[in-house]
Amino acid sequence: QFTQHGGNPFKFTFSDNNERVVMSRLAVVCGGSRGIGRAVSQLLAQRGHRVVVLSRNKEAAQVTAVSLPGENHLCLSCDVSKEEDIQRAFETISKTCGPVGYLVNAAGINRDALLLRSKSEDMLSVLHTNLLGSMLTCRGALRSMLSHGGAIVNIGSVVGVKGNSGQCVYSASKAGLEGFTRSLAKEVATRNIRVNLVAPGFIRTDMTAGLEKEDAVRRIPLGRFGEPAEVAHAVLFLLESPYITGQLLLVDGGLQLTL
Ligand code: NDP
Repeated sequence: QFTQHGGNPFKFTFSDNNERVVMSRLAVVCGGSRGIGRAVSQLLAQRGHRVVVLSRNKEAAQVTAVSLPGENHLCLSCDVSKEEDIQRAFETISKTCGPVGYLVNAAGINRDALLLRSKSEDMLSVLHTNLLGSMLTCRGALRSMLSHGGAIVNIGSVVGVKGNSGQCVYSASKAGLEGFTRSLAKEVATRNIRVNLVAPGFIRTDMTAGLEKEDAVRRIPLGRFGEPAEVAHAVLFLLESPYITGQLLLVDGGLQLTL
């Protein structure tokens, strides 16, 4: 249990009365309209943070943003595979909302196929969205975090750690995020900016629709797919943990033990 030092929301002290105070932040959630990103947006809003929901489909982002508890949440259409979209989004955010405190990179796609059958355009889409997109949004957010501090959580995958047949490109995009996260954490630590990675296993979202079959579930030690909210709790934990950076946290029901 801790309370913050005067003025700086990322310096905490333990208090005698077991009180924990976390300052309200501006949180940008890429891929916040559905699945894991949506659950993260909901949890952040419940904690009193103001959320900017980004996704390609503005209507879906808006449906999420208006459903969040609290006020002044925003939604923006932004394709993270396009640098100009990211630039525009962060310009709008800094003009209309102020400095970004939290960034969560949950936008992601898969185009699963054996490498020999993978089309180059699909490979590029996956790398541009999952890896380059996260790098560019981090760069966009860092510009406003440099003077105030902040925290970033990228969403990787257990497949990026362990590999999986039929997911070479997806796995490479997520493994790339791991190296990126650790390196960026070293680069920006002195500016009081923390960067961590949450690596989920099978989570019940649109991305895994139709995959929840008996043989898949049997491989998971906890015996079930995870819920988006269960990943969101791990994301929130890392965002709000003032002394953790450069860390990878698997949220996979123990799947890494069996792969
Ligand atoms: P969903 O397909 O349910 O949601 C993906 C989200 O990302 C949507 O909000 C989507 O909105 C957005 N998105 C996709 N492409 C782009 C883009 N180019 N630009 C902006 N937003 C985009 O996926 P999940 O919630 O399951 O996945 C979230 C993250 O977690 C991904 O990075 C995924 O790789 C990772 N993950 C998921 C696992 C799972 O089991 N579900 C396991 C391990 C990792 P829109 O379509 O409107 O753009």
